[in-house]
Amino acid sequence: MDEEHIVGDEDRGSRKRKWGATSRQRQKEIRYDDPDPNLDGFEVSCKHGRNKKLSCKDIPFEDLRRCRQKFYSQKDKVKQHTKLSHLIEIGTPRRKKRSDQSFTRNRSITVHYNVWSSNSKKIICQKMFLKIFGISQKRIQNISRQMKAGSGISENRGGDRRLQKNVEKRKKVKAFIANLKGQESH
Ligand SMILES: [Zn+2]
Repeated sequence: MDEEHIVGDEDRGSRKRKWGATSRQRQKEIRYDDPDPNLDGFEVSCKHGRNKKLSCKDIPFEDLRRCRQKFYSQKDKVKQHTKLSHLIEIGTPRRKKRSDQSFTRNRSITVHYNVWSSNSKKIICQKMFLKIFGISQKRIQNISRQMKAGSGISENRGGDRRLQKNVEKRKKVKAFIANLKGQESH
């Protein structure tokens, strides 16, 4: 550790930045790491019974595990969200009958959850989907909302700090140039 200790003003700035980035990155990795890679705590507990559309009970456990491992192979919020967004299908419900209870509960949006099994996408229920990936309903809601809005997946928490800094820098440069131009015209 002593060898790494560098004294001198020139190095301080860059070293500090490096440290900050590393621990920030590490924090994110921990947050988006898999708490249960082998799905040991997993059990199918769907309450909907047999449903023609849903294949919750027909997907081999190995496939579920593979889906999960693929999802957690990148411990990055945005990359994970992108992966989830590929498995989620958003649609507007067809309202044929007024008596249809499932549509009246959530009129504006229908969401289908898919997982890959035997080289094809299988529709499962939300509960199972959340369990397979060990994610919260809120995370799904955010993704589906973003998908519906067509805004793509964005990083909200903390944001892209490098990007923010660049934008700030650019603004400053622009202001500086504008100032110069103003002076020239005199
Ligand atoms: Zn289910």
